[in-house]
Amino acid sequence: GALESTPRRRFLGSRHQSLAYADRAMPIDCGQTISQPTIVAMMTEALDVEPHHRVLEVGTGSGYQAAVLARLASEVYTIERYRSLMRYAEDRFKALKLDNVRTRIGDGFEGWVEMSPFDRIIVTAAAETIPPALADQLGEGGAMVIPVGLRGAAQHLVKVTRMEGQLSESTLCAVRFVPMIHGVAEQL
Ligand code: SAH
Repeated sequence: GALESTPRRRFLGSRHQSLAYADRAMPIDCGQTISQPTIVAMMTEALDVEPHHRVLEVGTGSGYQAAVLARLASEVYTIERYRSLMRYAEDRFKALKLDNVRTRIGDGFEGWVEMSPFDRIIVTAAAETIPPALADQLGEGGAMVIPVGLRGAAQHLVKVTRMEGQLSESTLCAVRFVPMIHGVAEQL
């Protein structure tokens, strides 16, 4: 339902409109990609969001995944390292009246400590290992879905959960994501 009510074409540039509903990843600005709808659906399902949840997303990109989450969660906090991508994403959130999305230009490796703890964390770029700050900002009973793997090598979607303070990990499936990169982008 959340995917159905989120118009994917609004998150793609004019050159890519004809393939907006194809089940494939598509290029967005700054050399980044919007994930394949099946992957967005699978990650969203794995995240197991409840209506009262506060969710952190790392890697706003086009804003599509955040928009899907905004229909399921109480609040979505999303971080992006490119200002220009974020400006477009913010316009889309406004146009779709998704006023429960908060945005921040920053380094997702650091999370968003002022707004933590989070019930759910989703990372939409691949990390070599689970960023410690994100694990720290996961609340009790919380869960994080993140692609983990070396750049150019095999990556796996990992679900990290915190139960009675203890973190545990399970591997969901093989995936391919753009890498998480440290720091805020110099380029606009
Ligand atoms: N969720 C997005 C997918 C974007 S691709 C969508 O639905 O369109 C991954 C995004 O992660 C890129 O926009 C990239 O710039 C961003 N990213 C990579 N490393 C990051 C970091 N350290 N902090 C914040 N964003 C990061």
